[in-house]
Amino acid sequence: MTLSESANEDLPLVTCVARARIPTTTGPDIFLHLYANNRDNKEHLAIVFGEDIRSRTLFRRRRGETQQERMVRGAYVGRLFPGRTLADTDENLGLSLQFDEATGALKADHATTWHKQDTLVRIHSECYTGETAWSARCDCGEQFDHAGRLMGLNREGDIIGGAGHGVIVYLRQEGRGIGLGEKLKAYNLQDLGADTVQANLMLKHPADGRDFSLGRAILIDLGIESVRLLTNNPDKMAQVEYPPHLHCVERVPMIPLSWVNDHEGIHSFEIEGYLRTKVERMGHLLQKPLKLHSASKQNNSTTVTTHTIV
Ligand SMILES: [Zn+2]
Repeated sequence: MTLSESANEDLPLVTCVARARIPTTTGPDIFLHLYANNRDNKEHLAIVFGEDIRSRTLFRRRRGETQQERMVRGAYVGRLFPGRTLADTDENLGLSLQFDEATGALKADHATTWHKQDTLVRIHSECYTGETAWSARCDCGEQFDHAGRLMGLNREGDIIGGAGHGVIVYLRQEGRGIGLGEKLKAYNLQDLGADTVQANLMLKHPADGRDFSLGRAILIDLGIESVRLLTNNPDKMAQVEYPPHLHCVERVPMIPLSWVNDHEGIHSFEIEGYLRTKVERMGHLLQKPLKLHSASKQNNSTTVTTHTIV
């Protein structure tokens, strides 16, 4: 029995259905994992940096399956190439997976499988407007891009990156869990003067209806044990805790790009209000550097004043 199959009310059952390599326009290859679960019918995802981060449910040997079937669903080691016949061994790279003969479970040996290291993780909730429709009402698209960039980098400023390893768990819970239709109504209420929290409450939704238990289950399925979590939301750190299997060891902040550089990031009336609400009403740990980018003009002063945006 694997962890994700163990009986626990808190933890949904998740199964990785398929995994594929995606070459990206901006950085390293990623491995997109699609999950099924026993809580809803949505296709939740894990965007994985690192070929050696392996889903236990995807890689477990199934009775009677062929090596071709394993390759097609993505349960292979190394890299596919035309004419390859074995999923469990990549002869070009000299990699071979090991399995428990009795259960078929993958043996997570260090030569082939990412193991017991602090892993950069972002738990990201779907935001169609911010990620696809160029919305400047929120910073979801920017945060998504930023998380992926950090996972590919060794370091960015003071922040240690993932150096090619990391996981973005992508949960299909649009609009803090209320769905796109209700989110659009909330936007109209915001244009009528409400903030993002008030708007949800006026529509009789919770301020935040998201459920991160699927995120925990997916991380455990991927063999992640200790997490460096990319977030400004201290509540999210508690939501990835699942002792003894999963711990958050560090919070890695995500500073809006527009606060660091005038010429980058999102500049809009709406984003200022959105970030203000996150800080004031949702407890996000976010400090805006005051005039950081014009510090050099201030009479040679190198002091940078910061304050929480109000
Ligand atoms: Zn958004």
